[in-house]
Amino acid sequence: MRAAGAHYAAIVSTEPGPDRRADPDPDPGRGLVLVVEDEPAIADVLRINLRAAGYGVEVVADGASALDAARDLRPSAIVLDIGLPVLDGIEVCRRLRGRGDWTPVLFVTARDDEVDRIVGLELGADDYITKPFSPRELVARLGGVLRRTRGDSQAPAVLSAGDLSIDLTSHEVRVAGREIALTATEFDLVTHLMRRPGVVFTREQLLSDVWGYAATAGGRTVDVHVAQVRAKLGGASPIRTVRSVGYAAARAPHEGAAPAADEAREHGPRP
Ligand code: CA
Repeated sequence: MRAAGAHYAAIVSTEPGPDRRADPDPDPGRGLVLVVEDEPAIADVLRINLRAAGYGVEVVADGASALDAARDLRPSAIVLDIGLPVLDGIEVCRRLRGRGDWTPVLFVTARDDEVDRIVGLELGADDYITKPFSPRELVARLGGVLRRTRGDSQAPAVLSAGDLSIDLTSHEVRVAGREIALTATEFDLVTHLMRRPGVVFTREQLLSDVWGYAATAGGRTVDVHVAQVRAKLGGASPIRTVRSVGYAAARAPHEGAAPAADEAREHGPRP
């Protein structure tokens, strides 16, 4: 496991320098960008241009390595090719979101129908760029993504709302200090909502984001799990029902890092 760097480096031929990863974040102001691209020539272009723009860059060439690297390196953003072998970029993003990782994602697409898929899936993709692209466009898009999502990219390791606190690392859930046992799905559901407080998710979005499949019917599944979370968390449950739309986590006033005028508009004042 400690040789993870060597593992990543072996997947894509990278510039020499065994100590390259000793300082994965050479410029904290810009942050580390994880590039997931299986075509070495394109990966090289991405790395060179992102480095030139002041970012730290880590390159991996497949989805499984991307999931590992996102967890181990906690990058500021991910540049994610959709056309990857085995686990494609959309599935990688889905799995990231499913485990509560909202690292900003800039998708790299090769075809228009891939764009349709991204948009249709509501995966929380922050932007996309279509091949072929100019390096200047790439750097500009990434800068835009990071500006828009700055609140999310520094997501806390602990989510809290009132008496409820959820440690995203240890998966401990506590209400007023008392530990509560949630199932994996209940945990994913409540943290998914709390990651975007105030944002209303439809049942279909939650099925896709949390359960990982696009179901046309099955909103009852979501309702049942929401009911279970509420039963376990009692008055500390942050999940609000938004009539005839879906569910949202109440905004926690003390968390007010992310400006969210549009989110506030979405749900209006609480009754
Ligand atoms: Ca590809």
